Amino acid sequence: MKKNIVLITTVMILILSIIITFLSLYNLRASGIKSAIHNAQSISEVVKSGLTSHMINNNMHQVDTFIQSVSNMKNVDKLWLVRSENVNNQFNKESYNTPRDSLDEIVLQTGKMRYEVSESITKSSVRVTIPYNALAEKGIDCLKCHNVKSGDTLGAVSLELDISILKEIGIESLYIIMLIILITIIMFLILSKKFLTPYSLLFSLFKTNMKEASVGDFKKIDTPIGLSGEMVELTNDYNSLMSTFKDTTEDIDKKLQGFVGYHVSNKVRNPLKDSKDIISKLSNLYQFKKQVEKDDTKEEIYKRLSEVLLYRFNIENFTFIEINMLQHKMKKVVEHGDSFYCKETLCNSPELCRSARTKSDVYSINHHNTCQYFEKEDKFYYCFNVNIAKSLYLIIHCVVNSDKELEKLKEKSIFIKSYLKEATPALEVKLLLNALKESAFRDGLTGLYNRKFLDEHSKKLIPQAMREEFNIGVLMLDMDHFKAVNDEYGHDIGDKVLKELARILDETVRESDLVIRYGGEEFIVLLVGVNTEEDAMHVAKKIGTRVRENEIDVYAGAKLKKTVSLGLSMFPQDGKSLDIVLKNADIALYEAKSSGRDKVVRFNEEQVSSIDLF
Ligand code: GH3
Ligand code: MG
Ligand code: MG
Repeated sequence: MKKNIVLITTVMILILSIIITFLSLYNLRASGIKSAIHNAQSISEVVKSGLTSHMINNNMHQVDTFIQSVSNMKNVDKLWLVRSENVNNQFNKESYNTPRDSLDEIVLQTGKMRYEVSESITKSSVRVTIPYNALAEKGIDCLKCHNVKSGDTLGAVSLELDISILKEIGIESLYIIMLIILITIIMFLILSKKFLTPYSLLFSLFKTNMKEASVGDFKKIDTPIGLSGEMVELTNDYNSLMSTFKDTTEDIDKKLQGFVGYHVSNKVRNPLKDSKDIISKLSNLYQFKKQVEKDDTKEEIYKRLSEVLLYRFNIENFTFIEINMLQHKMKKVVEHGDSFYCKETLCNSPELCRSARTKSDVYSINHHNTCQYFEKEDKFYYCFNVNIAKSLYLIIHCVVNSDKELEKLKEKSIFIKSYLKEATPALEVKLLLNALKESAFRDGLTGLYNRKFLDEHSKKLIPQAMREEFNIGVLMLDMDHFKAVNDEYGHDIGDKVLKELARILDETVRESDLVIRYGGEEFIVLLVGVNTEEDAMHVAKKIGTRVRENEIDVYAGAKLKKTVSLGLSMFPQDGKSLDIVLKNADIALYEAKSSGRDKVVRFNEEQVSSIDLF
């Protein structure tokens, strides 16, 4: 900056000096020429008077001597007279004092003074020709002697005057001006160094300091030596402004870090930029929280979380796993990309999941085998642990291809966890609601579905069976002489017998079949999608056998064996609605009871008429 100011000022001084010098030299030359002409005019007046007096005194033979003496005057290089043709004619002296050059001729023709300036390196001169015009003045009347009209040109005096002296003066002036310019520039440079340097130093300090402040590095500056007063005040004000900025941004940054539990200490910080980033992240997080709160189901929340992982954190491969430690259940609820590499053994025993067991995140940053159930050697994993409710965990299992990607993922993990933290309460609510809904459909004693569930579920199941044209085998069971168990062993043992029956039913049928406690010691089994009634009969008999063979501990080593009677009917073969099919199964059960118990009876129409008769 300072260099520029000095350079510009120096150039301006130079240009100004050159202009002034040229103007001065031009004026000097112009005034020199003017004074030379003026001089010539004076000399011409002298010559004119001399000539006139020589003429009047009839002394013309001494004119040349007179002219010679005038020519000797200082600065007069040449002087000659020129006669007009009129005068030559009058005095019969042709070619006497004839014009020597064109200037003479023009002056004789025009009667007006002319001059020319000739300049060379060595010499400068002015060549002037001044006419003598015939006048009838008081003292001297030209017309008395000359046979001419008033105003005619009688002749002229030509002079060549040396004005070289002007050039010398000009060159001297030039030297003096140059010297003055040089001194001025040197003075300016010395003064600028003394006065401008501290200002330019302060300016560059401000410049660097502000650049650093823009990236969050707020520093104070010292006033350069040589500056005082307002400049010191300005520096102090600037320093206190920087200090306020520093304190405020650091404070905001610290508080924001506290908000998100985000601490960065080992890298170069920019509190301004970091605060801006954190605020924008917090705003996104707040939006996410608001949306999650409005979500209706757990699945919607999982979908939203998946989108966050995918689009906000660029994680491509992840699986959401629900783990219920109490029930030893593990369920994949979301799967995206190429992400699930947990060994089969883990899927069967979820309590082996390290993340769920240690209630912490598990990742393969330092040791690939941190989790021994991850079976892909060339992939890397990061499992986030989200404790949704007591003994219930959501494990977000992310898989990446390189350790570098994993490091990046770890850096993002704090913010990912912020999202998970915001989603947790909403997930817990949804799970509680699910559990509540579930409990309303479950029988408290056996854990089987209840009659209410059958009513609700059949609304979807029957249309589906009709649409997809599959069969449903309906078994209605009743324990034989159950009342006697209660009477003999008490209700507790009665309950135990019911639970045993429920277990056998659950274990005998397929996962997709439904076992329902219909009431008291009556149960219904829906064999969903059973191929034929023979298959259904086979399952029913298997149940009968297993119950018959099952020994129940009663007390003091005593064992109890029970039997069941079963009625079988088929949907849609035995009725257009589930109610009819159920009723028919009940009729078949009645038939089984009345025909000796511990057996399976397939429903047929004849049973209906026999009941009617009865
Ligand atoms: P049957 O062979 O004709 O079926 O004879 P039963 O003794 O089983 O006769 P019934 O079906 O009428 O008996 C039902 C008994 O089941 C009556 C009731 O006290 C008993 N019971 C119903 N619900 C429960 C229960 O939850 N726990 C216990 N312990 N007993 C129950
Ligand atoms: Mg009964
Ligand atoms: Mg019974």
